[in-house]
This record gives sequence, structure tokens and C-alpha cells, in this order.
Amino acid sequence: MEKIGYLYDPFFMLHDTGPGHIETPRRVEAIDELVTEKYDFIPIPSRMGDKEELLMVHDDEYIEWIEHGYENGVRMIISADTIVSELSYDVALKAATSTKNAVEFFKNGGKRAFLNLRPPGHHAETITGQGFCIFNNVAMMARYAQEAGYAKVIIIDFDVHHGNGTQEIFYEDPTVFYFSTHEKNNYPYFTGSADETGKGAGLGYTKNIPYHDYLEDHELIGYYDELPKDFDFDIVLVSAGYDLMKEELISTAQITFEGIRTVVRKILDYAGDKPVAFLLEGGYNIDSLVKSVDVTLEELEQ
Ligand SMILES: [Zn+2]
Repeated sequence: MEKIGYLYDPFFMLHDTGPGHIETPRRVEAIDELVTEKYDFIPIPSRMGDKEELLMVHDDEYIEWIEHGYENGVRMIISADTIVSELSYDVALKAATSTKNAVEFFKNGGKRAFLNLRPPGHHAETITGQGFCIFNNVAMMARYAQEAGYAKVIIIDFDVHHGNGTQEIFYEDPTVFYFSTHEKNNYPYFTGSADETGKGAGLGYTKNIPYHDYLEDHELIGYYDELPKDFDFDIVLVSAGYDLMKEELISTAQITFEGIRTVVRKILDYAGDKPVAFLLEGGYNIDSLVKSVDVTLEELEQ
């Protein structure tokens, strides 16, 4: 049985999206209650990194704009879905820079980790947040991993939405492979087509599998046979978004708990003996979210 690292900080609840927003603090709190009750994981401490660390992924003007956004009257990024509250910058900075400690956990011999992060990150591009995301957590972890010697990183994204931010950040980079399965007729709508495969030196290091509405388990599971076979990765990072479950109203996908279990198992088999971190992205129906994370954690323990 694998010892699993687990990263969470109640501070992640303090990004205040306001009443009626589906990206609520309750999401990470409910997952933490599950972990506390059922699992015996190794705690990975959170950390508040320096804002300069964000420059590995984000533009300095964007970082400054978010840092001073609330005091300057900014209440949202681009559209009303991505809220800037009084503590949003600090929470997002802490979530993104805490991922460095998960890399440290792997350097010290850990093999698998679950990062219960908030806000999510995969829609955040170099110069802007969007889609509930402020800073790109998984992209930050990829860069920390490379600093620590994990030269080649694969990011696997099963969130129902395309991780446009992650794709954009690494689009010309052959050292980070981005693999995404996502609902075609869904946010962010204009990225994630199958013919977006990278650019320049990064050509061939992005793979998108957009899918039709009302996707079923066997179809999603089949897509995970298409993980790249010739990319010699050193670490696997998973953008684990659970908004593809059939209980979710944000998509039409019909994925069951046994379906997501099989996908997680296939990712773990693919990773082999390389370290694997699951970073929370979407998932908004609390009951479904907790149960699908539970299934993920059961597989991680195997
Ligand atoms: Zn999503």
C-alpha cells in the first residue's frame, strides 16, 4: 500500500466567491473532511511562496494587477465568473506556490500525492486568469518539478473543460507534454481542438481529445489508451477536475464513479514508478465531488 502525500490548508477557503457561486469553499472543506475521516495520509505542509516565483508561469503585470486588485477596486477577472475578493491574491499565491512542497515530498521518496487546492488553476494563462482560476497551479508545479530535476513533465487533464491556460503556457515547450480530454461544446469554447498540437519546438507535445455531449464511461476510458507512448517523462501531474461526472450540471458528460476509477487506474498504470500528483481543478456537486475524490484516493492507495 502506497503512502500518499496530502496537501490542504483551510486558508484555501478564504478566497470568497460570494453567494450563489458554484466554486465554493465548501468544495475543499468537504474533501478534507473525507480525508480526515477515512485516510491516513502524510501531510504535505502548505507554503506562502514569494510572488516572484509566479514569474515562472505568469506575466509580472498580471501578477501586480491581481496583488493590488482588490485595493484598487477590482472585483472580477475578465468576466463575472472569476472573483477577486480581499484575500484572493494571497489564497491563489499560496495554492500555486504550495505545490513546491509536493515536489519536495517526491524528492524525499514519496510517490503519490493529492493536492486539495483552491482556487483551481488550469484556465489561467500567462497574462490572465479566467474560468474561476487566478494562477495556474499545475503549471507552477511543473516548473518547480523541473527546478528539482524532473526534466520532463506530463500533465494529464481530465477536467470536463479544456485547460486553455496550461496549453498556452507550455505550447512551445517540448519538455512539458499537455494531454487533455474535454467536452467540445463547453467552456472555454475556442481552444482545445484536436489540431492544436503545439508550436515550434513544442510541436507534437500537446494532445487534445475533444468529445461530444453526453459522453459515456467506455468512451472516456478508451481515450486514455492514447496517452503518449514515446514521451520519456520523469513526473506525472494530473489536473483532476471532477465536473465530468454525471451528477454535475456544468456539463452533459455521463461519467460514473466506476468510470472515473478506471481512468485514474489507467493514469497510475501509465505513470509506472514515476511520481504522480493529482491537483484538484473543477467539480461542483459536493456529493459527487467527494465521492469521486474518494474513488481516486482508493486507487492511489493501491
Ligand atoms: Zn472544469
